[in-house]
Amino acid sequence: QNRVFSGVQPTGNLHLGNYLGAVSRWVPLQDQMETIFCVVDLHAITAGFPESGVLRDATREVTAAYIAAGIDAKKSIIFNQSQVREHAELAWIFNCVARMGWLNRMTQFKEKAGKNRENASAGLFAYPNLMAADILAYRATHVPVGDDQKQHLELTRDIAAKFNNDFGASIKDLGLGVPNPTPSPEVPEQVYFPLTEPMIAGPATRIMSLRDGTKKMSKSDPSDLSRINLRDDAEAIAKKIKKAKTDADALPSETDGLKERPEADNLVGIYAALSGKSKQDILDDFGGQQFSAFKPALSDLAVEKLSPMTGEMRRLMDDPVEIDKVLKDGAERASAIAEPILKDVRAIVGFLDVR
Ligand code: ATP
Ligand code: MG
Repeated sequence: QNRVFSGVQPTGNLHLGNYLGAVSRWVPLQDQMETIFCVVDLHAITAGFPESGVLRDATREVTAAYIAAGIDAKKSIIFNQSQVREHAELAWIFNCVARMGWLNRMTQFKEKAGKNRENASAGLFAYPNLMAADILAYRATHVPVGDDQKQHLELTRDIAAKFNNDFGASIKDLGLGVPNPTPSPEVPEQVYFPLTEPMIAGPATRIMSLRDGTKKMSKSDPSDLSRINLRDDAEAIAKKIKKAKTDADALPSETDGLKERPEADNLVGIYAALSGKSKQDILDDFGGQQFSAFKPALSDLAVEKLSPMTGEMRRLMDDPVEIDKVLKDGAERASAIAEPILKDVRAIVGFLDVR
């Protein structure tokens, strides 16, 4: 059985990269598989505790963005992570499954911790274990994310594989396994956790910063000019695209010509993703033209595509009662899936159950 899990951190400033690389791609999956979309608030405190009320507002804002983008609370489960205890509990067990060496290789930790690694929270270091728990607390099989999450998803598979192996006998004795879909001599016949498939595809798996074509667009980038926020109005969008860093050459007529030009490549990629066309289609139209002609066309397209969503987000944010109802219902449905899975996991690990 296929089950999708994905999430966004409520760290403010939801941007075009989050939309094109993640949320917009979730929408069609709702009609193909069981879908669970989480606002991962436990992750949002790894880089520091926000001031009072900020986390609550940001959680509602991400929820509003999900709904405005077309996630349907009837088809999908929408909830915030801290309401379902199983995430934290499974993360603790995975802290004891994952190896320090595995986490030491994670590039996101190095980027986020920066030079002052000694002062990063232990939570930031263990973040990928919590992400593995988010996914595996539902035994999810598919995870649609942006390209930056690829390494974390590989770690999730490593954790699942080690758990399946280390507890192979226990899983079999308790009769809790499912036949391993990819049998091999080193892997037990019966496994508990699936090896999750990453879904990283399309023209917008990694939208870059508007200020620096080598850095990804991020919520946590201190420069607001680096990203197009989903909340930006038409004027702000036009200003940011106008100021976006580029080189001085005209656009090429073939995608090969974008290779050594990260900023040009990024803007063409954004245009392609927003219009649902390929980069070559865009170059067929704009090849040979200057950025002074391309940028206004890109602004118009971005405004046209984003403004209905922005409007709907504002409407939803005006009435948090509706959002909170969606999250409450979602948390109940999510718990109903995760609770029995954690009950299994406790038994597999060997905790004494006296209740
Ligand atoms: P932060 O800086 O707080 O980590 P973020 O912008 O990286 O924020 P996340 O909440 O960490 O956002 O990620 C949510 C989803 O958006 C993930 O699936 C991630 O892969 C995707 N994503 C984030 N940034 C981009 C980007 N620049 N291009 C495409 N997808 C992205
Ligand atoms: Mg991130």
